[in-house]
Amino acid sequence: MPDRLGPALTAPIVDRLVIVGLGLIGSSFARAARRMNVARTVVAADASPSVRARVAELGFADVVAPDLASAAEGADMVVLCVPVGACGIVAEQMAGSLRPGAIISDVGSVKGSVVAQVQPHLPEGVHFVPAHPVAGTEHSGPDAGFATLFAGRWAILTPPEGTDPAATERVRAVWEAFGSNVEVMTPAHHDLVLAITSHVPHLIAYNIVGTAADLEEVTQSEVIKFSAGGFRDFTRIAASDPTMWRDVFLNNKDAVLEMLGRFSEDLTALQRAIRWGDGETLFNLFTRTRAIRRGIIELGQETAEPDFGRRKPEA
Ligand code: NAP
Repeated sequence: MPDRLGPALTAPIVDRLVIVGLGLIGSSFARAARRMNVARTVVAADASPSVRARVAELGFADVVAPDLASAAEGADMVVLCVPVGACGIVAEQMAGSLRPGAIISDVGSVKGSVVAQVQPHLPEGVHFVPAHPVAGTEHSGPDAGFATLFAGRWAILTPPEGTDPAATERVRAVWEAFGSNVEVMTPAHHDLVLAITSHVPHLIAYNIVGTAADLEEVTQSEVIKFSAGGFRDFTRIAASDPTMWRDVFLNNKDAVLEMLGRFSEDLTALQRAIRWGDGETLFNLFTRTRAIRRGIIELGQETAEPDFGRRKPEA
């Protein structure tokens, strides 16, 4: 998949686009919207006065709204880019200002919980099309975003049953303008797939870095000095935003626990193979996993570079 942005749209897809939460994802969304001429007006709204001030300085939004209710007035599309646990309260604060026909979307890493939190607050005639860009970095805040973050990556849409197909197509058009490939699935299926591809790997990284930090017989300086032996790659993931990831685990509890159960069983089998000197089991697994890594590279979701191929923001 190409990881560059194409030419800007000749006509915007939405008039007033409101982005709530201008962190890594929200500010990347705003920058991409600006670059690709996706909206006539980009409005930024954030609970934090310091984030609002920084967004005004960075200049990637046309308007920085003083509060959520005024931001929502006259909006054609509102995209919630706040931590998953904050989506319900944000929807509640904006609901009274939303006009019929407006589209609400989000970028949360968990979908079932966001649907349950947001939907009860939405007035009649407001369309809800949840989304999740499978793209990110370990950085946070409005300075961390960049316009090409979503290019060549997947965006998963999870419209609840009965959603107006025209609203889903409009949200799809926005992600496609950002260079994403779009897939549609149910919220429950999304949460199961992401539990194993994203949530459990993050938990493992947090855990292994925590374990290494607590070891008594190995010093902290040795952990840092010899980190190139595999540990370093876990530390990148374990540097991810604590609020965001706390909310992911609290809001995707069932799927994460299900996948962790499977993971623990497989880990026990590996433990047994090591204990009994069963090299064949180890070799066979490592051969299969190497093939999976090659498959990911071939699909264009990764490169063979040792830094995991994380793209740097375009200058
Ligand atoms: P982030 O950089 O921490 O940005 C979140 C922003 O939302 C911050 O500016 C925060 O302000 C603001 N915020 C928090 N609560 C709010 C509220 N109640 N009302 C208005 N603004 C509020 O986080 P992020 O990485 O962009 O993540 C945002 C969303 O994207 C999350 O739902 C996450 O699951 C999803 N996502 C993240 C990634 C990733 O790799 N990071 C990838 C895909 C999807 P404060 O700083 O004052 O708290």
